[in-house]
Amino acid sequence: MDDKTGPVSKRYIVSSCLAGLATRYDATAASCGRVVAALEQGVAIPFCPEQGGGLGTPRTPAEIVGGDGHDVLKGNARVITRNGEDVTEEFVQGARQMLILAQLTGASAAILKSRSPSCGAGTIYDGTFSGNMVEGDGVAAALLREAGLEIITEKEFKYD
Ligand code: SF4
Repeated sequence: MDDKTGPVSKRYIVSSCLAGLATRYDATAASCGRVVAALEQGVAIPFCPEQGGGLGTPRTPAEIVGGDGHDVLKGNARVITRNGEDVTEEFVQGARQMLILAQLTGASAAILKSRSPSCGAGTIYDGTFSGNMVEGDGVAAALLREAGLEIITEKEFKYD
């Protein structure tokens, strides 16, 4: 329950893998000490949009082909696994679930794992599975940004 007599702390929705959960495609975490500290303070809510969209862990890695997450949301690009499977619907569904959780919990900002086709913010892989990067947002980052949340990568996030 919120303490109504004091200031309400800013809340963050965060990529689960940054909080130490083994949700990445290869069933590993990408723990970030500053995000874990925010979690311990009760101001961070972890969520993995790829799991939330129904994909398993471990899972085949995927990249956005034909644009970035904003293009995916408009129906102008797809998310394709390394094996050629189209997982666009799972990515979009997971992004929607993440936005719902952010809204339910009053999160005004998101701390997202850089480069991911879901969570990447500002830079993502180019869709060729070659390690090359392009400018753009992942699908969940795009939806959260379009909904007005402040988007921060784990590299930019500062927490005292
Ligand atoms: Fe982490 Fe986001 Fe990938 Fe899930 S989808 S493992 S939260 S980067």
